[in-house]
Amino acid sequence: MSAPPGEFAAVLAGLDLPGLAATGPRADDAAVTAVLATARAGGRLGLADLAVLLSPAATGRIEELAHAARETTLRRFGRAVRLFAPLYVSNACLSSCTYCGFSKGLPVVRRTLSVDETEAEARLLAERGFRHLLLVSGEHRVEVSADYLVAVVERLAPLFPAISIETQTWSDDTYTRLVAAGLVGAVHYQETYDRARYSEVHVAGWKRDFDRRLSSFERAGAAGVRRLGLGVLLGLAVDWRADVLALAAHATFLSRRFWRTEVTAALPRIRPNAAGFPPVVVVGDAEFVQAHAALRLYEPDLDLSLSTREPVAMRDGLARIAVTTMSAGSSTEPGGYGTPGTAQEQFSISDERPPDAVAAMLVAAGYDPVWKDAFPLVAT
Ligand code: SF4
Repeated sequence: MSAPPGEFAAVLAGLDLPGLAATGPRADDAAVTAVLATARAGGRLGLADLAVLLSPAATGRIEELAHAARETTLRRFGRAVRLFAPLYVSNACLSSCTYCGFSKGLPVVRRTLSVDETEAEARLLAERGFRHLLLVSGEHRVEVSADYLVAVVERLAPLFPAISIETQTWSDDTYTRLVAAGLVGAVHYQETYDRARYSEVHVAGWKRDFDRRLSSFERAGAAGVRRLGLGVLLGLAVDWRADVLALAAHATFLSRRFWRTEVTAALPRIRPNAAGFPPVVVVGDAEFVQAHAALRLYEPDLDLSLSTREPVAMRDGLARIAVTTMSAGSSTEPGGYGTPGTAQEQFSISDERPPDAVAAMLVAAGYDPVWKDAFPLVAT
């Protein structure tokens, strides 16, 4: 089931990511000052500038970086922060990814919700105020088939104006069917853009095919999916800066290739789960904030999403700097909203506040929680 690589595969092959990432350690204070001045003046930054903003020299200027990012976020997005909820429909998976709690072969309790059970979970989330759902599943061609997912989207579309998926890569035809059923967004984390490292951690199953995974975004965009979600898993590859640079290049490529489509990105850090996978590098809090602020300055219109993996203080802080979409009150197990404890979670969450508490935090900070998921969010 191999797929032709998308156009971005050639762009990625042409990028000198190690060279760009190596620019960072050589960057000095003067270089950081120059890039910040360009960003503040509204100038367009290149990948070399982003490498400077990701550098250790810029980590020492994190407050300036955060301030500049906050100004850019306010200018481009106003005070709106979108809230969404993940709805795990299945933790069955035929792929083996060494970092994931759903990996095939792990002795975890598996569950796939029926369409009726999915609707029951969704109605609980609707009662909590959500109008944007992210349907999440492992990769299982039988339990989570194209027909099943289309049926779920069709059932939930009257309840939710914005439905996204975070699932396997689908055929062009299936993306078209999903859009017709009411799908708005597709999230396909590449996890790492380092082919060698990708191959080490994706040991079996469909997800092992790097190019097939990379083609997901273009397949979905060509089928009319209006929001494309990118992500790298921080802690998976040693050179996290190279991964952020590649993600930035991918975001720019997609926003030009599908100019009517919103591009959204996330930088999750590895959390404890049943796989017991140790991160190969720990991205500290200052560097985590730096990565978000740098991406905001590099690509001002990029929607940055943050999950409940992160602790309360980090989430509350980043909502004031660069993040424009947040999950809230999340469960990462199938059936976890109505019947918790009946299946294995994908990873443990840190921010356990209910959604209304997250919304109250945003209001207290002067922001507008957006439940209905206005599209697009970017001010034009
Ligand atoms: S990352 Fe996705 S494909 Fe890989 S084991 Fe987890 S659920 Fe399955």
